[in-house]
Amino acid sequence: MDVLTCRGLRKEFGDHVVLDGLDLTVGEHQVVALIGASGSGKSTLLRCVNLLEDLDDGVIELDGEDISDPRVDPDRVRRRIGMVFQSYNLFPHLSVLENITLAPIRVHRRPRAEAEAQARELLDRMGLGEKAHAYPDRLSGGQQQRVAMARALANSPRLMLLDEVTSALDPELVGEVLSMIRDLKADGMTMVLATHEMGFAREVADQVCFLDGGRVVEAGPPEQVLGDPTHPRTRQFLKRII
Ligand code: ADP
Ligand code: MG
Repeated sequence: MDVLTCRGLRKEFGDHVVLDGLDLTVGEHQVVALIGASGSGKSTLLRCVNLLEDLDDGVIELDGEDISDPRVDPDRVRRRIGMVFQSYNLFPHLSVLENITLAPIRVHRRPRAEAEAQARELLDRMGLGEKAHAYPDRLSGGQQQRVAMARALANSPRLMLLDEVTSALDPELVGEVLSMIRDLKADGMTMVLATHEMGFAREVADQVCFLDGGRVVEAGPPEQVLGDPTHPRTRQFLKRII
């Protein structure tokens, strides 16, 4: 069964139509990369899926449940989705361990010892085991971003949404975050990621979607969309950035 289905999504900001009948389907264990010019609506789409924006029209289904129904409790939906942003958004006054265990303890009501054991396991897996008691400002950008990923994973999400998670990093720190995403894919995590790193999209994505004019104008395997695009807008975009 598909994990995520978006049908006819429409989102306007004032008279600016950002999503204009957008369709997207993400199968289980699939990694979908969203590409497109700045302002093409990649972040808005991810925010709509995580119910951080109200839709003007369309339907979003998570595991077959219509989560765009206004009667749905957004917090219940967000517990099944992990989202990571370009700007990590760690809580500066909390240690690494506290950042990761906050939601499991407060929101999911998990016993502290259990949440901490799981957080330590995640940190070990990411090579950050020694940083459990460090505060975010003592970590490099790449380490902070990996903690943000660990925090999102602590809720055992069904779906991960990654919005330009390497964009704020110095080039030498990008690799460690990309390698984490590669590991997550190997574990079978279903992910939608907005990225402007075409090389990475090509390597990790099962499907690349090119957004333009509020729609997915071209979607397919990376070698097709990035290597042999059929839509003139995709060609134009790729020619500009490569
Ligand atoms: P991308 O992530 O592809 O760069 P965004 O989804 O961030 O694109 O933005 C798409 C468009 O929506 C942009 O023109 C942006 O200015 C506009 N936009 C995004 N969020 C808001 C908002 N809260 N209010 C008004 N306009 C917004
Ligand atoms: Mg964006």
